Parts: sequence; C-alpha cells; structure tokens
Amino acid sequence: AKSDNQNDYRYFDQIMSGDAYEQFTIANELHDAIENDELIPFYQIKYDIKNNKTYGVEALVRWEHPKRGMLSPKDFISIAEATGLIADIDSMVLKKALHQAQTWRQTIAPDLHVSVNISQQQFEQKQFTNTITQALNETGIDPSAVILEVTESVALTHVNDADEKLQQLRQLGVNIAIDDFGTGYSSLHQIKSLPIDMIKIDRSFIKESNGQDQDAAIVRTIIALANNLGCQVTCEGIEENEQLTFIKNERCDYAQGYLFNRPQPANDVTKLLTS
Ligand code: C2E
Ligand code: CA
Ligand code: CA
Ligand code: CA
Repeated sequence: AKSDNQNDYRYFDQIMSGDAYEQFTIANELHDAIENDELIPFYQIKYDIKNNKTYGVEALVRWEHPKRGMLSPKDFISIAEATGLIADIDSMVLKKALHQAQTWRQTIAPDLHVSVNISQQQFEQKQFTNTITQALNETGIDPSAVILEVTESVALTHVNDADEKLQQLRQLGVNIAIDDFGTGYSSLHQIKSLPIDMIKIDRSFIKESNGQDQDAAIVRTIIALANNLGCQVTCEGIEENEQLTFIKNERCDYAQGYLFNRPQPANDVTKLLTS
C-alpha cells in the first residue's frame, strides 16, 4: 500500500547515507527508466582477425539518465540484479539488439552477427527459451547470426538443468558463448561437456599479458583448448597492437577492444559499418 511505501522511504532516509542511499535512489529510478525507454544498447564491433573483416557487434546496455547523464553497467547492473529488474533489461536489450542487427543485415552488413549478454536471472527464467524464440520470430533474423553470452557460472550452476537449456537454445539455431572465460571455477572437464560454440577470454588475461608471462601462457592454453573442442575464440579488451599481434599468432578467431573502437550508439556504428 501507498502509506507503507512512504514509511519505507522515511526508514531508508534515516538509515542510509552516501553510497547506500544513492543505490536505493537508483533502484527506484531504474523502474521508471525501463518504462521510459531510457535504457539503450550501445554496440561494440567485433573483428574476424583471421580474415581481416568485421564479424559482428556486441550489445552493451547504457542508461541515458535524464539528470545523471550516461550511466554504464557498473553503475546499475548489480542493483538491477538485486531488485530482479535485470531480466526485464536483458529482454529489452535482446529485442532491440536483434532488431537493429537485422536492419544492418538487410542494408549494409549482410553477414553481421550480434552478441547479447544473458544474466543468470534471465537464463533461469522458465520462459527464457520462449523469449528467445519470440525475439527471433519478431525480428526475422537468422538464428545462426545470434550469439548468447553467458558466464561460466551461469552455464554450470545447476549443471544438468543448464545443459538442457543450452541444448534447447542451440536447437533454435543460436550460438552459445562462454563470457569472461578463465575467471570462474569451472574445470576444463566441465567445459568439455557443455554444448557451446564460442569462448570469450576475459580481458584481465589480455591486460596483464606481455606475450611472455603466465597470462600469455593462459591465453595460449585457452585458445588451444577451444580449438581442440571445436569452439571459436574471442579475445576482449584488446587495446594495443602488440596484444593483437600476440593473439593473431596464437590463432585466435575474433577480437574486440578499444584498439578498434569503443561501444557506441547504433547511429555511429552504422557509419563505421558503411565506411
Ligand atoms: P562484458 O560482457 O565482459 O563486456 C565487455 C566490457 O568491456 C564492456 O564494458 C566493454 O565496454 C568493455 N571493453 C571493451 N573493450 C575494452 C577495452 O579494450 N578496454 C577496456 N578497459 N574495456 C573494454 P561495459 O559496457 O561497461 O559492460 C560491463 C559488463 O556489464 C559487461 O561485461 C557485461 O557483463 C555487463 N553487461 C553489459 N550489458 C549488459 C546487458 O545488456 N545485460 C547484462 N546482463 N549484462 C550486461
Ligand atoms: Ca559479454
Ligand atoms: Ca569480460
Ligand atoms: Ca562480464
């Protein structure tokens, strides 16, 4: 009831200050933001570095906040998870991204792929497979152009259930990528048993790597593993030419990073895809 809500606010006013208060405010605003369409996907281009061409785009959500300006996921994703709003956000991003990608495919980039991040909460929803089917049908995009990015922990939490769901999704024809690979606790054995198409090596391994140290050895090992499993590999967070040269030599398939470009609004990506 309304009066209860007002009590809640007073209560929080009293006990919260600083960051906690800020987070509470953001949680409230996030509700409206979804309805007011303030959340929009930016897109970062992903390159096929074996064939020197554009491979696809990854949708990365941004919040065009009317007062605070542009907010990035670190400002609101954990709040969205805590409040259960993340699944709504993901569904919205999914629809918009598939629609935008299909537009690009029909106009300027016929082979473009599109990657979307899937939170644990969205993945675990009963109707998740339906949500994907619906988005595919509504946009008419070729399912094989779509990549769903889940983290290791999402893919492995309840190994059997997740496995079944991943199989269902693959039967729809979409691709499954394991995001942030190397940061979770999965064993190589577990990964081997999962129905996945792609592995994304976490940025932290790239960032620290000078091509010769332990991180380089990890990157090298993951790429070799992926090749053995018949998975394609992406390295994210490529910022320097030396890093690109290193992963090319190791026969990585795809790369993303500030060296090429940052995530940006659809209009700007249209220009990049056209040029
Ligand atoms: P992620 O999926 O691992 O995405 C890669 C992040 O690295 C993005 O941050 C991207 O902007 C950033 N990045 C790309 N290239 C470079 C680089 O060369 N250097 C550096 N330092 N960073 C680079 P962003 O956009 O802030 O997103 C952060 C995280 O938020 C994502 O990590 C993803 O886990 C999550 N996220 C973003 N959009 C969504 C969404 O729609 N749904 C869900 N569930 N999570 C999302
Ligand atoms: Ca991702
Ligand atoms: Ca990452
Ligand atoms: Ca991540």
